[in-house]
Amino acid sequence: MSFPESVIISCYIRSEGRCECRRDHPEHRGHGRCKALFSRNEGWVAYRVIRNAPETVQNCELLCPDCAELAEAGWRPLSAAVARA
Ligand SMILES: [Zn+2]
Ligand SMILES: [Zn+2]
Repeated sequence: MSFPESVIISCYIRSEGRCECRRDHPEHRGHGRCKALFSRNEGWVAYRVIRNAPETVQNCELLCPDCAELAEAGWRPLSAAVARA
């Protein structure tokens, strides 16, 4: 399943061509939002925030491939990993 083109366009405008990830990933730790740039047609992954929620603008994040991979893998902030250990 994939997001409709209209959703992608809205998300791209919202993103201003930058990865929308605000997770505490190592690649952009301390910077808040990821600084990865992409173009309208490539360099991003449409990530479904809540897996079984509808394909809406609210449930779509445009992420760079690195962040999408980490998000997909269920990456958690370091503090949470430490707390588990
Ligand atoms: Zn990113
Ligand atoms: Zn990230």
